Amino acid sequence: MILDDRDAIVRVTLASICTSDLHIKHGSVPRAVPGITVGHEMVGIVEKVGPAVLSVRPGDRVTVNVETFCGHCFFCQHGWVNNCIDPNGGWALGCRIDGGQAEYVRVPYADQSLDRIPDPVTDRQALFVGDILATGYWAAQISDISPDDTVLIIGAGPTGICTLQCVLLKSPKRVIVCEREEQRLQFLHRYYPQVLATTPEKALDYVRRNSDHGGADVVLEVAGGAETFRMAWQCARPNGTVAVVALYDGPQQLPLPEMYGKNLTFKTGGVDGCSCAEILKLIKEGMLDTTPLITHTFPLEEIEAAYDLFEHRRDNVIKVAIEIGEKS
Ligand SMILES: [Zn+2]
Ligand SMILES: [Zn+2]
Repeated sequence: MILDDRDAIVRVTLASICTSDLHIKHGSVPRAVPGITVGHEMVGIVEKVGPAVLSVRPGDRVTVNVETFCGHCFFCQHGWVNNCIDPNGGWALGCRIDGGQAEYVRVPYADQSLDRIPDPVTDRQALFVGDILATGYWAAQISDISPDDTVLIIGAGPTGICTLQCVLLKSPKRVIVCEREEQRLQFLHRYYPQVLATTPEKALDYVRRNSDHGGADVVLEVAGGAETFRMAWQCARPNGTVAVVALYDGPQQLPLPEMYGKNLTFKTGGVDGCSCAEILKLIKEGMLDTTPLITHTFPLEEIEAAYDLFEHRRDNVIKVAIEIGEKS
């Protein structure tokens, strides 16, 4: 139901499960409203729009942005939409208001929150645009990567791979990925043979040996593990940049005496998801392709099985797609 003139109702055709949904399920997202319909990764078809919506029309195939935002406040004007001051701004969908693991979803600020999917781009190609691909794109944007850089990405999970794809668009001299799990390393070798890979135990030494100035010029921390924040700043060269993309389960230490003199720049998460149109264009041009991440597909009726598989990482799952309604 349209509640505001700027709302749209979207009939969801394809959705996914994000690790953040698991965090909500386990009660570790304090601002999540109990009983909410989760789901913030989805694509669909616009069913209805409020009278003030200008950019989309019923029948349009669209991606839904993880962050809804007003477009007018100080933060939105700067592109910092994660911090939109509007009550429905920032990450609201599937957290504070009902999300998209359902047949229909109400999307506030449709003009900012929905992007039309270009015709040749399929729903499966567009599925991650609004969330994990937006995150990877944002992470690569804020990291100031230049062509001479050695970039270290910590974590080759779904968001790590999206980040890797966006980092590769910046053509740095060298990319190293640190990942613990064998299955993910195999995926990495198969799809990104040009990328160097290491494991957490070997990372510090490996990065020092495979970089030009005693460490990575840029580190993107996407893993959010118990030791990965430490690894991130230790692997950075002096005067390097550490971008924290990960969401941690607990506080991290910033041991300033140990860091003294290293003169690092830290950038902290989370995503300002307002580049969906650019990302869709890159997909259309063949520059980004996240379809290999979709390892399993379930109908909405079997979403519990999908959660079970995803949460317990069975059967080499990376991401699941949830098909909703008749197949399109
Ligand atoms: Zn997510
Ligand atoms: Zn705003």
